[in-house]
Amino acid sequence: MLLENVSCPLCESQDSRLWAEENGFRAVRCSGCDLIFVNPRPQLQSISEANRIGQHRTLDGSLDVVFRRSTRKIRHYRQTLSKLVVDEFKHGRPVKWLDVGAGFGEVLEAILPLLPEGSEAQGIEPMAPKASAAQKRGLPVSTRLLSEVQETYDVVSLINVFSHIPDFRSFLADLKAVLKPGGILIIETGNAGDLQKLSEYPDRLFLPDHLVFAGVEHMRRFLRDGSFEIEEVIMQRRDSISYAAKNAVKRALGNLDAPLVAPYRSPFRTVFFKSRSAGAAP
Ligand SMILES: [Zn+2]
Repeated sequence: MLLENVSCPLCESQDSRLWAEENGFRAVRCSGCDLIFVNPRPQLQSISEANRIGQHRTLDGSLDVVFRRSTRKIRHYRQTLSKLVVDEFKHGRPVKWLDVGAGFGEVLEAILPLLPEGSEAQGIEPMAPKASAAQKRGLPVSTRLLSEVQETYDVVSLINVFSHIPDFRSFLADLKAVLKPGGILIIETGNAGDLQKLSEYPDRLFLPDHLVFAGVEHMRRFLRDGSFEIEEVIMQRRDSISYAAKNAVKRALGNLDAPLVAPYRSPFRTVFFKSRSAGAAP
């Protein structure tokens, strides 16, 4: 597999130090801005190919990333997203919502009951097996790429996608292009870029499926530079007592990949950013 050396996707610095190694790949920390990213990384063509088929080539084989639909996720997304949009939808006018990287359609299932009557929600997902699983459940998820989307939307969501995007600056410009002026962009990602040590991360890194790990300030900077105004940030712990207990049970049953976590100790957070594209309200 061909790899290429890249500069920092946020500040373009070429200086970095090793942060973690996994599956034969290196995640480095930028000396200029502390962002964490895979370097060297697979070439863009192999990244998009891997995202289509759901399998990444690694040094010692392959990493499968199709996984399964999760109903727990649907409940969690519905709860958090409703906090972020409840005031927006008070007017009761229909809205158009696009979920980018829609997976099995969990985000669409989560938001459908929240939308005013007459609204429209669609998803795009490059990974064909996921998109067709969503279609079978009656959810409008297509394999179109973001650059192929022609319409514009009131809300665009990007949930658990950021780390897969090699060049988020240009991706953010594409997101802006499908948002109406004053439209809302919701991004969810972890804050791994804020962690000092790999041991503070509550899971495997899944390199090179995940290519970039930002912290809260990194994301603020990406959004500011892309002419988005951040309106709300929600940070959620992963290391609850029930999460710790669940993993302890998995380990006891022989799944040594389950991370051993002490509850309420980790600085890792899942972070939701609600931001607004500069321009007049729709
Ligand atoms: Zn940097």
